Amino acid sequence: MTAVVTGSTQLLGVIGCPIEHSLSPVMHNAALAALAPTQGTLPYVYVPLHIESANLERAIDGLACIGCRGFNVTIPHKQAIIPLLNEISPVAKAVGAVNTVWRTTEGWAGTNTDVQGCMAPLLSQAHDWSKSTATVLGSGGAARAVIAACHQLQCATIQVLGRDAAKLEALRADFLAARPAIEIQVYPWEQLPHLLDQTLLLVNTTPVGMYPNIGQSPIPSDVLTKLSKDAIVYDLIYTPNPTQLLQDSQGLGLQTIHGLEMLVQQGAAALERWLGQSVPLEVMRAAAQSQLSH
Ligand code: NAP
Repeated sequence: MTAVVTGSTQLLGVIGCPIEHSLSPVMHNAALAALAPTQGTLPYVYVPLHIESANLERAIDGLACIGCRGFNVTIPHKQAIIPLLNEISPVAKAVGAVNTVWRTTEGWAGTNTDVQGCMAPLLSQAHDWSKSTATVLGSGGAARAVIAACHQLQCATIQVLGRDAAKLEALRADFLAARPAIEIQVYPWEQLPHLLDQTLLLVNTTPVGMYPNIGQSPIPSDVLTKLSKDAIVYDLIYTPNPTQLLQDSQGLGLQTIHGLEMLVQQGAAALERWLGQSVPLEVMRAAAQSQLSH
């Protein structure tokens, strides 16, 4: 017999709209089942919660009333939830978005584990990041988490490329306000070929190449050759695996990192926050991989 949901099982979840394609329930419940005693009570369950923007405040109050221990936050609530929280971490403040919320005696507190998730596969690399340039493609929500991660790694320079000059300038101003020491430069997309030779870490945060547009890449393969041989190419997209960008990079002998790792690591960091203990990363990775291959 395996552990079951009983009267003392507590609630965790993910709020978003839409939410039905989220991989988080499969990943978190696999970890919770692995941590539960083989016979007895499942201490927590993790459920998808479809919440429309107009209902966000009432929904958060409701979750507090029913004793929910914590939840993840996804599109479109990552920014909107901030004024509804009693406390937010410095990293979430710098990114301007919250993806993990937990209960305190005063109310809800939030942080952003995407930053830790993004950094995790980079921390194991033997690079002197303080002498490195990171180049980030895109200026949306995920780009902000990646920039905060590159700053935490102490990258010497962070170059950000995007299509929208006003959005790029706003992003730069927000980071300079939160982290005055950050070396952040913004460029129009057309500058990319001139920025790659100094780049050690190239991160794609655009959805270009994501299923179903699997043959597309944000960088033409001839431009990619401008990267040095020791460059790392990191694509945040987690379906397909590998993306066209990563296939092209592997063809040039470059080191690559796939987006599934960030997804798993941000989830593990959230679960550790709620449970106050380490969580089975391998179980989460296998559950997410198996759900993606369905
Ligand atoms: P977002 O806020 O919508 O930002 C997307 C960015 O990509 C924007 O800067 C957008 O530019 C740019 N973009 C879109 N289409 C483009 C194109 N054809 N050419 C050039 N730039 C383009 O989305 P997000 O939340 O940051 O997510 C972005 C990607 O990261 C998605 O694929 C998502 O699945 C992935 N992601 C992965 C993880 C993970 O854990 N692995 C976590 C978060 C996100 P404009 O501003 O000009 O429209």
